[in-house]
Amino acid sequence: MTVIPSTEHVNPNAGAVRPSGSDSGAVRPSLVGLTRVQLRQALQDFGIPERQLRMRAGQLWRWMYNRGVTSFEDMTDVSKELRAALAGAFSLDRLEIVTEQISNDGTRKWLLRLAPDELGRRHEIETVFIPEEDRGTLCISSQVGCTLTCSFCHTGTQTLVRNLTPGEIAGQVLVARDRLGEWPSQLEKAANPPVSGRYITNIVLMGMGEPLYNFDNVRDGVDILADGEGVSLSKRRITLSTSGVVPEIVRAGDEIGTMLAISLHATTDKVRNELVPLNRKYPIAELLQACRDYPGLSNARRITFEYVMLKGVNDSIADARRLVQLLKGIPAKVNLIPFNPWPGTGYECSDWDTIEKFAEIVNRAGYSSPVRTPRGRDIMAACGQLKSASQRLSARQKAELAAAAGTG
Ligand code: SAH
Ligand code: SF4
Repeated sequence: MTVIPSTEHVNPNAGAVRPSGSDSGAVRPSLVGLTRVQLRQALQDFGIPERQLRMRAGQLWRWMYNRGVTSFEDMTDVSKELRAALAGAFSLDRLEIVTEQISNDGTRKWLLRLAPDELGRRHEIETVFIPEEDRGTLCISSQVGCTLTCSFCHTGTQTLVRNLTPGEIAGQVLVARDRLGEWPSQLEKAANPPVSGRYITNIVLMGMGEPLYNFDNVRDGVDILADGEGVSLSKRRITLSTSGVVPEIVRAGDEIGTMLAISLHATTDKVRNELVPLNRKYPIAELLQACRDYPGLSNARRITFEYVMLKGVNDSIADARRLVQLLKGIPAKVNLIPFNPWPGTGYECSDWDTIEKFAEIVNRAGYSSPVRTPRGRDIMAACGQLKSASQRLSARQKAELAAAAGTG
């Protein structure tokens, strides 16, 4: 494929809300992104009487997460006085959009800036929206960077890490809804609103980071998104992808309750040790046992096994046969991912006919094995290409990427 120069909109604040200062110059904390428990606590600390807490928290929750309002003024069932008082103490700020890029295939990528951490650093994360004919998938991040070092993954080369808060995890969805025009008031005005009422029909935790190394915040962030009085997206439409943090997998099924995807990528420990170094700690047999033990598995609720196709590394016929053997007895589907190149990688994507042969063997064994179409490669939005984009690419890196994508 050819790389078409990205259409980059340096967003001059449209849709982005900065931390607000009150008249006294103090920063007003945002209520957007709080969990139910945190919201109640914030309102209690603010002085809302005990007997009203439940009702007020419920009202604000619905305005923030179901209607997506950006001003307390719009909360029409809250008294004028209380609206003014809330606006004096809090904001409804979202994550700040630094850039929005739109790929020639319609994929959108946002670079989002987080609030300062305890050292005053403002990290950035990436979120990607992938529109398809029958669905729209939002790929969200769970950490800044990743502590793991999978050798084929761009994020793995970025060492800087902090866990995202529940509000930052759910906040990515709120920003995407703003920009896509998915809130009820925006949909009312849309020329061609989606039949289901949603542009974002699915969420995958496949952006930057290892979600199971940020367990509690991912659980709470998912709960904000799945809450029936908020964004109200079924947990069956949310998929958590893990590189294989074995001790947390079964617990994730019990406590987070989303669909599960496993980044398998190899059929022998020798190869997987190289690709996913975490395999040295939790080898394939233990990983697959945890999958067998994942609560609620059935043919209607399968585990997705992700398998990145790397030329000459993991793409042989013998690999395909071993893969089928390994998955025996697990309600599974296989997602074959053509390797997405990034500047400086030593890997190449498998040839197309190799991928097809591989898929055929897996298919014939009864596993659905779609090959994931690379999306948004021109804006470095494809799987495994995310990295703090504040780091600009040099001309040489861009040329390398174009050359690699051309052969991919
Ligand atoms: N840390 C989690 C989720 C984020 S990565 C995990 O590893 O599962 C999401 C998916 O993208 C994983 O399957 C990952 O292995 C895959 N991926 C990473 N780099 C890639 C690349 N360069 N090309 C294609 N897929 C890649
Ligand atoms: Fe981290 Fe997943 Fe990339 Fe591995 S593939 S480095 S676990 S983000």
